Amino acid sequence: MNEKENNKMDKIVSLCKRRGFVFQGSEIYGGLRGTWDLGPLGVALNNNLKREWWKMFVDGREDMYGLDASILMNGKVWDASGHTGAGFCDPLVEDTETGERYRADHLLKDAGHEADGLSLEEIDAIIVDNKIVSPNGNPLSPARQFNLMFESRIGATAGDEGRVYLRPETAQGIFVNFKNVVDTGRVKVPFGIAQVGKAFRNEITPRNFIFRSREFEQMEIEYFIPPDEDIWERYHREWIDTRKDWFASIGLTAEHLGEEVHPRDKLAHYARACTDITFKFPFGEQELEGIAARGNYDLIQHQEASGKPLEFFDEGRKEKYVPHVIEPSLGVDRTFLAVVCAAYTKDEIDGEQRTVLKLHPRVAPVKAGVFPLMKNKPELMEKARSLYEKLRRRWNVFFDVSGAIGRRYRRMDEIGTPFGITVDFDSLDDGTVTLRDRDTTKQQRVSEEELISIMEEQIGW
Ligand code: ATP
Repeated sequence: MNEKENNKMDKIVSLCKRRGFVFQGSEIYGGLRGTWDLGPLGVALNNNLKREWWKMFVDGREDMYGLDASILMNGKVWDASGHTGAGFCDPLVEDTETGERYRADHLLKDAGHEADGLSLEEIDAIIVDNKIVSPNGNPLSPARQFNLMFESRIGATAGDEGRVYLRPETAQGIFVNFKNVVDTGRVKVPFGIAQVGKAFRNEITPRNFIFRSREFEQMEIEYFIPPDEDIWERYHREWIDTRKDWFASIGLTAEHLGEEVHPRDKLAHYARACTDITFKFPFGEQELEGIAARGNYDLIQHQEASGKPLEFFDEGRKEKYVPHVIEPSLGVDRTFLAVVCAAYTKDEIDGEQRTVLKLHPRVAPVKAGVFPLMKNKPELMEKARSLYEKLRRRWNVFFDVSGAIGRRYRRMDEIGTPFGITVDFDSLDDGTVTLRDRDTTKQQRVSEEELISIMEEQIGW
């Protein structure tokens, strides 16, 4: 990361804290690494992202069904999915002097080596041959596998029955409910099940702010398709394109995004293909979402381990099969960070520097600021207050009387509020207000009806 980008990331982190988007978890106790708390504006932005996603992919489609499965699941789920085994481990190395732990593949990548899919022996050989040391300059221990699941126990249950994990992904909750959804809806393949919820991974090195943390949220879909060999590629591509359209609708347009196709020889044995949609973060272009074609591996695993058939009877084809699946898997927190990074802008207005978050109105945490021109004029206050109350019934809007109007605009710019509404003396005569555009700072006079229709159109609800 060059200095400018580094600086940009520091500024974003500090803005997020100062304006109440994101705080360090357990901050007054010195924090808990890899955890973050969302403040008043952060939770509003986060909820907007999840709502936009749900509206587009569940409410907006006939072929999708929502689900909210438990975070705690029977331990056997994770045996069947492969998560308790080597399949869900990252290679760990220790600084032999300080005991600090690092992800070996990240250290290799930082030193310019290919690091995906290597065995522990191969990792050790690269470390030795290239004299790779820890970030503190000390020798590294041999690599070992480190499982990323947090394990716990159900209090009153002894033995293996009491073994539980905090789920490391929401996807398995979907697979184990496949039959329930099929049996209770009038479901026809192809169809998808969507879920939003918390996931936990004991990441060895949480880093880059909320990009990689130990507790995060996912928005996942399992899209079930017929098992024919010649169709999955089309569905896979369709999902990549559909997701890019959705990203554009929340302000992450093509210039911010990339695609990274996982090479076939690095895929898990059951996977057909995996394409990451990447985002150009200030710390580099990194995975935002993974879109995998997983064959029927997961359903077959659960069918075998549970002894319960997880087949679908296809009325049209008059046959039973275990469907294959396309899995678009997106982190809410990464989307949050991408949206804020894409929106973060410094520009100059009338010779004065300002920081503005050019957030899409759909996701902006506060939609409008309502400002009476002066606070010591009761008729202005009353008119502005009544407009504020009216807008507040539909949207998160903010009422601000303190300071010069320019300063009030700047405070709203910094948190990405798209509409600035000023009530002045003309408003008392003809009911119009001044509507200021956050990005261009252009102002126009509009009636209340015009104001609401402009807001509706841009916010989309
Ligand atoms: P990596 O290889 O970077 O550890 P992964 O490829 O294992 O991650 P997936 O299992 O594909 O990640 O997870 C799906 C999505 O969940 C990711 O694209 C990301 O948006 C999100 N995600 C995964 N791990 C984390 C994390 N530790 N913190 C925040 N988001 C995460």
